Amino acid sequence: MTDPIRAEIERHLDEPDPPTTGPIGATGATPRTSRAALPRTRYDWTRAELEELLTDQPRYRVDQVWQGLHDHGTDPSEWSNVPKAVRETVAGALPSGLTPVTESVSDDGETVKWLWALADGREVETVLMHYPDRSTVCVSSQAGCAMACTFCATGQAGFDRQLTTGEILEQVVRARRRSAEVGKRLSNVVFMGMGEPFANYDRTWEAVRRIHDDLGIGARHLTLSTVGVVPGIRRLATADLPVNLAVSLHLANDRERDELVPINRRYPLAVLASACADYIEATHRRLSFEWALIDGVNDSERHAAELAAYAHPLRAHVNLIPLNPTPGYAVRGTSPQGVRDFAERLTDLGINATVRRTRGTDIDAACGQLRATHHGREPAAPSATPIAPPTRRR
Ligand code: SF4
Repeated sequence: MTDPIRAEIERHLDEPDPPTTGPIGATGATPRTSRAALPRTRYDWTRAELEELLTDQPRYRVDQVWQGLHDHGTDPSEWSNVPKAVRETVAGALPSGLTPVTESVSDDGETVKWLWALADGREVETVLMHYPDRSTVCVSSQAGCAMACTFCATGQAGFDRQLTTGEILEQVVRARRRSAEVGKRLSNVVFMGMGEPFANYDRTWEAVRRIHDDLGIGARHLTLSTVGVVPGIRRLATADLPVNLAVSLHLANDRERDELVPINRRYPLAVLASACADYIEATHRRLSFEWALIDGVNDSERHAAELAAYAHPLRAHVNLIPLNPTPGYAVRGTSPQGVRDFAERLTDLGINATVRRTRGTDIDAACGQLRATHHGREPAAPSATPIAPPTRRR
């Protein structure tokens, strides 16, 4: 029997990517399933292309423009050291890819969340989190997501389109500038926003490379997250930058994970574990599992035992994150005491586990929530058959 959720996921995993060339706005208000050309915006341009655009300018001028864009994250209109004609050329040829729709700051000022409009009207989110010792930005890799995880506002709203390398890179540039404005240094980038990075592998990897090369953020400060797209894990195992890998696991038995994380129907846990083991053997890097603790869904003693049995052979570190409330999903995050109990169980079972703070609950900082809230609606059901929340099991 055909599984409609799996079929929808596979369609987005397998379809060839559309081209990234084409004038800005050429895509217009395209239907959700359109494969029209993606917009080409400011940070899609490479250094060589910029030199070609400014071929009549001396090298130091190109350096000034490049530094303005990448080192300072400033707009051409702010470059008082650059002639007006050059500023106008750059502004005209390299339009910004992100227009702020809303910006929310948490009550304590430590979390900033943007909802951006893309050149074709699609929307994505970026979250900046300040810590005492660092600032981390969580970027989106797709507008929407086809993975249909049932606890996720983005998954509930469906897939719009791939992001370009420039659109991913610009999220980091914007966050870095904001960090600098409050005296903080953006040191970490995690690909845990909207979308599944490995379903947009080539553009995501090019963005990783440019964050590393052009923005100077070290590979060990970059983390790619996947919900279990095994071909992406296998490709990452052969990549030439030692970035971190986080697998969003959430359940460690196929019966329940098939419902909560439908990609599991295509890459079941045994297949995922095999890819993770090969990745560790090839890279000698530590793997981490993300586990969003959901009240009554994946926070029992049995779930802790299943997770420990799965994580132990891979020597994976476990990050526990109480689920942010998601409109349209009828369950809540595990209570603070439940989180502590779950972490203790894992520790007793020999697993290294860290409880992560839930950031920005007051500003809808969970993936896809800001977009849903901004439009004053519950997130739409997935484009394929909706999945009911898993049965509460204790
Ligand atoms: S949790 Fe991640 S992979 Fe799953 S639907 Fe949401 S954005 Fe997509």
